[in-house]
Amino acid sequence: MAFGDFLSKRMKKSIEKNMKQSTLHADNIKDTLREIRLALLEADVNVDVVKALIANIKEKAEGGYIEEGVKAHQQMVKLVHEELITVLGKENAPLNLSKKPTVIMMVGLQGSGKTTTTNKLAYLLSKKNAKKPLMVGLDIYRPGAIDQLIELGQKSNIPVFEKGKQSPLKTAKQAIEFAENNGHDVVLLDTAGRLQIDKELMNELNELRKSTSPSEILLVVDGMIGQEIINVTNEFNSLLKLSGVVVTKLDGDARGGATLSISYMTKLPIKFIGEGEGINALAPFYPKRMADRILG
Ligand code: GDP
Repeated sequence: MAFGDFLSKRMKKSIEKNMKQSTLHADNIKDTLREIRLALLEADVNVDVVKALIANIKEKAEGGYIEEGVKAHQQMVKLVHEELITVLGKENAPLNLSKKPTVIMMVGLQGSGKTTTTNKLAYLLSKKNAKKPLMVGLDIYRPGAIDQLIELGQKSNIPVFEKGKQSPLKTAKQAIEFAENNGHDVVLLDTAGRLQIDKELMNELNELRKSTSPSEILLVVDGMIGQEIINVTNEFNSLLKLSGVVVTKLDGDARGGATLSISYMTKLPIKFIGEGEGINALAPFYPKRMADRILG
């Protein structure tokens, strides 16, 4: 099941069920909103987001928004579509690639898909933006982590800078210098992940942030962890001031609602979504396309 499919199916059922009438009026608005509310909650959309969405749709549906000659069902779909886009963050948030070299710091919990995403993003930047990326292996704690990055880099044809067990701070600085001297215009730092957020991890990431002045700090989160995404994002953001979020594993059976809640709940944009293990399975996130997919 693809990202958004669950909500899409459920939502269409909700809207159609109560919208046989030709115009919107108090009764069918009320019934349909109840159904839409249920659809959102079942898809794991955050309760606060559901409340805001429903309140906004209700206000517009009751407040003379109705257009002559448009069927009730179409009116409701249009309303929900507009409000979904607002909740999803309105526009696509592109990466800031103006600096040379651009440093992109990839952070996240272990297993979230950080290393895989670093490689996918480097590949995307090389193909779509004609960039010459350099990936930097800084996870000196998880056995095999740097080897995994090297292996991925061989497949994507993106070079990897690593200095084994040396302090990540030192390696990162050397990597940026290397990039400057060798024409690499994007440096992706694959930082260490931990099973839980701990002070030591956060301190190390913060030091790294201070000494490398990244243009982007992207949090990679696993789309399968549901509402916990919001807590993880808030915790990383409070210390590191993230520039955006990348949600992975949306090809799994996640209901998707938690992901749809990130932007509203944390005020951070989703910049990319990962929908598979393959190197091409990373796409920029477009709120409008997502709303189209849900109500299309
Ligand atoms: P890290 O510990 O955060 O660096 O996580 P990894 O990059 O090693 O990823 C952990 C596992 O998740 C690997 O088996 C990846 O192939 C897998 N993975 C990462 N992104 C996705 C995705 O979007 N979809 C699927 N199905 N698997 C993914």
